[in-house]
Amino acid sequence: MLELKNITKAFNGTPVLTGVSLTIADSKTLAVVGPSGAGKTTLLRIISGLDTADSGEFIYNGATTTPAQLRKDGVIGVVFQGFELFPNLSVLENITLAPKLQGTSPQDAKQQAMTLLTQLDLPDQANSYPYALSGGQKQRVAIARALALNPEILLYDEPTSALDPNLRDSVASLIDSVKQQGMTQVVVTHDMAFAEAVADTTYQVQKAGEAQ
Ligand code: ADP
Ligand code: ADP
Repeated sequence: MLELKNITKAFNGTPVLTGVSLTIADSKTLAVVGPSGAGKTTLLRIISGLDTADSGEFIYNGATTTPAQLRKDGVIGVVFQGFELFPNLSVLENITLAPKLQGTSPQDAKQQAMTLLTQLDLPDQANSYPYALSGGQKQRVAIARALALNPEILLYDEPTSALDPNLRDSVASLIDSVKQQGMTQVVVTHDMAFAEAVADTTYQVQKAGEAQ
């Protein structure tokens, strides 16, 4: 369980997050929702250690920590909005690169990647390159790549926005199937209907300055 307490963030003196407190519960899916400009991406970047909060506390399984530490420990994985696959690497290489850099043997990394690709319904794409994949397939590869590092918590930045709207239901069932494996997930989205479809609980980011 990861708790955020009173997280604040301002850019150039303009407050964006004015005291975010939320709990990311184990094996549940939390949706972080709010209108464009509310600060959802800022919050995701802070949780994933890509940016730092101005103040506030992070408590992981009862102990005070920092997102930088969580990132170092591999607690958090991120599925980026544009997927950010390496274009010059095959699907298999995209998934095995980081585990191999961390010392997993090539054979073990490959075996784990093939297991993930089978679970994510992409067993025949291992040798394909990202350009040859559909948007939905790229997203599955991005999820496999994040899962290959065995994170405790998987964050998704706007998982529906780079995809055809008719894929919304399949993204929801994909997130649900990852949840069935026990993963803790945080889904940042501006799409309320999608949030309701995937989330056990929802946290609403308020636009700074607007009444709560
Ligand atoms: P959302 O993801 O909910 O659309 P963002 O977190 O992207 O919201 O942005 C929230 C507000 O913070 C916006 O007004 C945005 O312009 C501002 N902002 C975000 N990142 C930066 C930054 N690096 N520098 C300055 N302002 C920023
Ligand atoms: P999204 O559309 O996913 O909410 P944004 O376009 O808001 O993402 O943000 C993309 C990147 O640009 C982030 O790194 C964010 O910090 C930065 N950014 C957003 N708004 C501003 C801003 N007003 N000034 C500087 N950087 C910004």
